[in-house]
Amino acid sequence: MREQYDVIVVGGGPSGTTCARALAARGAAVLVIDKKSPGWHKPCGGGIPDMMFAPFGVPKALGFSTPLVRVLDAHRREMRIPMAYHTVYRDRFDEHLAERAQQAGAEVIFDTMLLDVERADPGFVVKTSRGTCRSRYLVGADGCMSTVRRKLFPEQLPESMCAIAVEHWYRVAHGITSLDFFVEPEILGTGYAYVFPKDPGLLVVGIAGIAVDKPRAVLERLLDLPRYRRLVGDTPVAAVHGARIPYRHLSRLHDGRLLLVGDAAGLNTPIIFAGIPIALQSGQLAGEAIAAALAAHSDAPLDRYNLDALRAGSLGFLICHAFYDHLLQHRRPPPFVSIARLLWRRPQVLSRAYVIHRALLRLIDGLDLVRMASGANSQS
Ligand SMILES: Cc1cc2nc3c(=O)[nH]c(=O)nc-3n(C[C@H](O)[C@H](O)[C@H](O)COP(=O)(O)OP(=O)(O)OC[C@H]3O[C@@H](n4cnc5c(N)ncnc54)[C@H](O)[C@@H]3O)c2cc1C
Repeated sequence: MREQYDVIVVGGGPSGTTCARALAARGAAVLVIDKKSPGWHKPCGGGIPDMMFAPFGVPKALGFSTPLVRVLDAHRREMRIPMAYHTVYRDRFDEHLAERAQQAGAEVIFDTMLLDVERADPGFVVKTSRGTCRSRYLVGADGCMSTVRRKLFPEQLPESMCAIAVEHWYRVAHGITSLDFFVEPEILGTGYAYVFPKDPGLLVVGIAGIAVDKPRAVLERLLDLPRYRRLVGDTPVAAVHGARIPYRHLSRLHDGRLLLVGDAAGLNTPIIFAGIPIALQSGQLAGEAIAAALAAHSDAPLDRYNLDALRAGSLGFLICHAFYDHLLQHRRPPPFVSIARLLWRRPQVLSRAYVIHRALLRLIDGLDLVRMASGANSQS
């Protein structure tokens, strides 16, 4: 660890190491610290759409391929969506991304906890369990409960804006080759249960939802139901573990030279709580924005990060905001399977909404918010 870096990234998950790689590949001096030990497995279904692998140069062989997504309900109604996914073991996936960041020139240090962080105009002083160092820019990639955000960011994600997910792993004789989502409104409210194959003989069974009281007990209750018992048998190979997941992103993703990425910024896809794609995208975009700022000796390029990262997640955000708007209005979840069926039969409904959303984004682009904001700042 040196005394001074261009950028320190706190958190070596997918968002942090992708950001570090983008920076190091553009010549920046980058340090990534992570409190985890190498080989630690973040609780995570690990389901990633096929389309996300090529753009980030991640080999699909890292995951187990599934050609189909199924949404099932308690009455055994089933919707089949032919969409290719790969499920990854998070220890291997995160390790691969960290190695790639190191190959690009980033310094990645595990077993290193962020203890404290302060602004020291124009940069930051970062105190870690291995010593203190300084940087010109700081990236908070330290997950949903981000210490960086809590210490330095003006806007916070209250716990009520975070879902919880817990899971069990089972070794099975007969695996499955689809990602199965179970809608369980009686037990889980707006949440869902999932059964994903990690490889031909290993299934992960979990629940994800908002305001789920005693999630471990709820998962146990579900696992007693015949429809799950049939799939997984009796003995889990790994104990229940879980973590929080954000479901609303912050309104701004950077504050001066501090940028938040992935779960730390609340960037996730509510309803399905799939955060890996937007973690990769936001990490890449933040890395590019900081590299552009370093090259230009000006922080102006950082303002693009906000719009670009929100645009990257726009389809997911669009769907989830519609979902939560319905929830607030009607105080009950929309009939999930029937809405999905409707969209499946009449995809133009979704594409029309998406076109309108994109048009609004273009309009916002056209307004050149970046210049307007800096104009407002210079007037005040
Ligand atoms: C049970 C569960 C199942 C999920 N299933 C899926 C799925 O199937 N598909 C999907 O796309 N998403 C899934 N998600 C969401 C996904 O795991 C996250 O969205 C994703 O990991 C976000 O990546 P990130 O890099 O932003 O944060 P993280 O992966 O959370 O990485 C943050 C890193 O910061 C480190 N850190 C935290 N605090 C400190 C500190 N003080 N000092 C040093 N280091 C620190 C942590 O050790 C961690 O490595 C699931 C989540 C859960 C909980």
